[in-house]
Amino acid sequence: MSVSQIQARVRPRLCSSSFALAGITALILWVAVADLLRQGRLATVLSAGRGELAAPLLVALVVATGICERIWPAERRPLLARGHVQDACFLAVHAVVVIPLMTLLSVGTATLIGDHARWIELRSTANWPGWLLVPLTIVAMDAANWLAHYADHRLGALWRFHALHHSQEELSVLTSFRAHPLMHTTGFLLATIPVVALMPARPIAPVLITIYVCIGTLQHANLRWTFGPAGRVIVSPAYHRLHHARETQHVNLGVVLTIWDVLAGRAVFPARGGAVGRTGLDGRPVPVEQADSAGPALLLLTEQLLEPFRG
Ligand SMILES: [Zn+2]
Ligand SMILES: [Zn+2]
Repeated sequence: MSVSQIQARVRPRLCSSSFALAGITALILWVAVADLLRQGRLATVLSAGRGELAAPLLVALVVATGICERIWPAERRPLLARGHVQDACFLAVHAVVVIPLMTLLSVGTATLIGDHARWIELRSTANWPGWLLVPLTIVAMDAANWLAHYADHRLGALWRFHALHHSQEELSVLTSFRAHPLMHTTGFLLATIPVVALMPARPIAPVLITIYVCIGTLQHANLRWTFGPAGRVIVSPAYHRLHHARETQHVNLGVVLTIWDVLAGRAVFPARGGAVGRTGLDGRPVPVEQADSAGPALLLLTEQLLEPFRG
């Protein structure tokens, strides 16, 4: 065996695009932290972000949904099913790492736009009434989130990070937190643009952000709920479950509103009382807790987080 062959075997194969995304994320975070430190507002902004993204309303929603899942489950399974335990670990990562990361990503992106692309700020909207501007901005933000989700499925470099979310074979409300931290970069980059463009001088009320996050969290619930007529507009658990089904991942990409899927010809509305399909990924390309070979939860969590960086 030649030296180069030995080196190739010893050296782990790494994925350069994943490191590039990590680098871009680090750059945005650095911009945010430097800017906030300069203004002496780092602690205040992080605490405000925690108030929006870990609000008591969201915590109450997760608990209430968990109770509903025990009473009316789409798929009956033990409370401590492997998928639930693993997603609870992701919830801990979300609380400690992802919430500050999300806050800094939106601050960093807004700072970069302010420094380099101020022309996107629509100053004329300053005179628009709040009842028009705020809903318009949230709808535009949802469109940007749809686009980021579409990119996650279309671009291999982004799918490497999104696949972890789709690998869950036992969906529950906790699956909303089963995401690689670096999966959020594209979404925040895109979703900050309409906010900065439409509301450059006014912040969106934190409670509205919390409500938006709550609706986005409910969609993974292990419930058959279709939301009735409202489910034609708002993403329901049954609607989003079709996106997690092995054979229909190209449909129902909506985060909160279904209109983008309808416009893109990708909306499939669930039938009331329809069959509950299996979720997860064919061939288990991402290590999952349901595999017989899966190690302890925290070891597996580390493997799942490192997986996108492997060549
Ligand atoms: Zn997806
Ligand atoms: Zn999902």
